[in-house]
Amino acid sequence: MERRANFIGGSFCEPLGGQYMEKRDPATGQSFALVPASDEQDIAAAVEAARQAFPQWAALPSEERARLLLRLADIVEQHLEELALAESRDTGKPLWLARQLDIPRAVRNFRFFATGLLHLSSEAYRGDGDIFSYTLRQPLGVVGCISPWNLPLYLLTWKVAPALAAGNCVVAKPSELTPTTAQMLAQLACQAGLPAGVLNVVHGDGPRAGAALVAHPEVRALSFTGGTRTGAEIARIAAPMFKKLTLELGGKNPFILFADCHFERAVAEALRAAFSNQGQICLCGSRILVHRPLYERFRQEFVARVRALRVGDPLEPTTQQGALISEAHLQKVLAYIELAQQEGGRILCGGERLRLEGRCRNGYFVAPTVIEGLAPECRVNQEEIFGPVVTLIPFDTEEEAIAYANSVPYGLAASIWTENLARAHRVAEALQAGVVWVNCWMVRDLRTPFGGVKQSGLGREGGWEAFHFFTEPKSVTLALWRD
Ligand code: NAD
Repeated sequence: MERRANFIGGSFCEPLGGQYMEKRDPATGQSFALVPASDEQDIAAAVEAARQAFPQWAALPSEERARLLLRLADIVEQHLEELALAESRDTGKPLWLARQLDIPRAVRNFRFFATGLLHLSSEAYRGDGDIFSYTLRQPLGVVGCISPWNLPLYLLTWKVAPALAAGNCVVAKPSELTPTTAQMLAQLACQAGLPAGVLNVVHGDGPRAGAALVAHPEVRALSFTGGTRTGAEIARIAAPMFKKLTLELGGKNPFILFADCHFERAVAEALRAAFSNQGQICLCGSRILVHRPLYERFRQEFVARVRALRVGDPLEPTTQQGALISEAHLQKVLAYIELAQQEGGRILCGGERLRLEGRCRNGYFVAPTVIEGLAPECRVNQEEIFGPVVTLIPFDTEEEAIAYANSVPYGLAASIWTENLARAHRVAEALQAGVVWVNCWMVRDLRTPFGGVKQSGLGREGGWEAFHFFTEPKSVTLALWRD
């Protein structure tokens, strides 16, 4: 059995309580590692290490902090292959996907915020009556970064990079289901020369380690990505302590095709939006709304392509769909497929657990599933499934498409497909979503604000929004006396 360790004050260490959890490989179902089941003592030690490191880290010249973070980006890039392999084994995602998406994005995150730091500026105002005001943006101190299992290093670094660039020290709590690349990042941060205590990683489950980080009085801000219910629990604890919070939560995103769309591109992207990472991306287009004149043609073409998707061993280069994260998650996805049938849905393809041969015979695989015939307001069309399951919903008018799109409690992302420019703008404006793509999906310019509305979250990440979140503005006003 491999053993994961916490990283506190520049050293790897065992959890103080001596407790561990088993980590399974989703592709084989086999346990292969023990993960620290840390508790509030470990969190307290990590926060103390971060607190001690803070004054020196915050006082480093920006160029020096940027240099260290750029070096870390380079080192992560040099270890792309090992990181991708670890990510694939922890999550069950195809190795090529971790190589092409997850790890390169972690490198980009560090480069983006390291160089962004060099361009930080703040407002200054010359007022009437010889008043001059400016804004200082100061780092907060110790901040907590809590991340999920679906894009482990990608999302962890999306938080850690701006937090460190802005001059904070971090206690990171990665998902207990995907601890490995966070641990490797800690090792690589050492190699890059990050001072001890600047980045700490504490493994453990949410109710113990995560909750202890949220409740710790020295932790000034929390950047969280995960489920909506967890986000609500975190807000319940953090809000009365007046901590800064960003919450990036669940989604039930519409993918809207109008009859005038570029059909080829729309079908190809609908497939990618539905099933990338086995549908386990918060941005996945899980409700495909199709203009009625296009419905039959789209259904036929889409279902044919879904049937052709190759589900298999994540290590095989030809595999398009890997395993789901855990047996529990697989059972949740299957329960939604069952519910869809009870709600009157027709399964057009998939709908079942797949048993592969050989190494992966006990893995957590589900056939990519397409369902039609469900009312927009039924549970399967309202609740986040977070798996390889999509529904097809026909609509007749633009107003109807907007109403269906907005009818869910979530509001993370949406994708609109039309060649009509005026319609694209109109619909983008009417959608209740934090992110809207027109004729594309999951194209990310890291400068744009990222986040959701309604139950998809609070606050924004990305670009200056992230620097603003991880700093506290202080207004300084001077009176310029003239005698
Ligand atoms: P989760 O909420 O179960 O766990 C996320 C993290 O929170 C984990 O590290 C977990 O240990 C921790 N946690 C759990 N309970 C906690 C508590 N009480 N206090 C503090 N921390 C706690 O989510 P998950 O299953 O890991 O991830 C899937 C969810 O994440 C989906 O809902 C998905 O939509 C969402 N997600 C959102 C985005 C986004 O950007 N909006 C991105 C990716 C995933």
